[in-house]
Amino acid sequence: MSTKAYIGLGSNIGDKKINLGQARVLIEDLEGVRISEMSSLYETSPWGKTDQEGFLNQVIEIETELNPLELLRQLQAIEIKLGRRRQVHWGPRNIDLDVLLYGREIIDQEELKVPHPYLMQRLFVLVPLAEIDSELEFPDGSKIGEVLTRLTKSADTGDLRKL
Ligand code: AMP
Repeated sequence: MSTKAYIGLGSNIGDKKINLGQARVLIEDLEGVRISEMSSLYETSPWGKTDQEGFLNQVIEIETELNPLELLRQLQAIEIKLGRRRQVHWGPRNIDLDVLLYGREIIDQEELKVPHPYLMQRLFVLVPLAEIDSELEFPDGSKIGEVLTRLTKSADTGDLRKL
């Protein structure tokens, strides 16, 4: 049985577009994973640690037979394959892959938290998610349109530009 899941891709070092493209190819190559939808690419101002280059972000929808932890570990293997260096928390990275949603599951483990802990606060994740499915409902029953409206009314959500 396959489950619909969403993955957030981000890059802010080197050729960001190529980094995202290579990550998508490796994700599509995974056994038990099929990419079903892709958002546009979004240029975003850095989040959390603001003295670094802007990010390029994208969200993809997949159908997967992998369980959530298997999926996370496969994504981490792709990050390593693409030469991810992570010296600073929230610092620059050539590729960052996050499990945003896995069906309607709520997972709260040290290694894996789903929905992703920052999902509800990050426009650069919510906007591409809404582009893929404007009717998306989170496991707690909240609707993406309402979450987005609430967030855009609050201060300091950063800049976001669709490519
Ligand atoms: P980051 O540096 O933001 O990529 O964080 C990576 C760490 O977050 C890893 O140790 C993961 O085990 C952990 N983590 C927890 N939940 C998630 C998630 N939903 N997606 C990706 N990494 C996660």
